[in-house]
Amino acid sequence: MTKSPDNGNKIKKIYRCSICKKTHDLYFPSDFAKNRSKYPFSYVFLHKYENSENIEDKDKDILTTIYIDAQLNIRGVEVLLNEDDTNILSKDTSKDIIGKLTGFILELQDEHEILIKKYNDLEKKYEELSNK
Ligand SMILES: [Zn+2]
Repeated sequence: MTKSPDNGNKIKKIYRCSICKKTHDLYFPSDFAKNRSKYPFSYVFLHKYENSENIEDKDKDILTTIYIDAQLNIRGVEVLLNEDDTNILSKDTSKDIIGKLTGFILELQDEHEILIKKYNDLEKKYEELSNK
């Protein structure tokens, strides 16, 4: 059995974006919600402003934080757009973005520790088995 790399086992989820005022598609691997340190867990990414009447907005990045539960359902969406015309982020926006990313990094660290623990347990089991 070969899995197709783009479409295999991917689960499609949609969410409503309050800045673009439209729904976006997201594709997750079926095991995406496994081994998280807490639920719902957050997933942070950037996407471009869509559907804006203002052509200036087209290149703007929207920082999106999605909260996903153990069943891979989207429980919440938070979006942040830098309203400033310049490329320099406003102080408040920077603070919000740093806060979101810091939370995301801390979650990743927790998940990393869980995985290391599982890996060590497996290694121990493997050693026990091979010593028999
Ligand atoms: Zn959007």
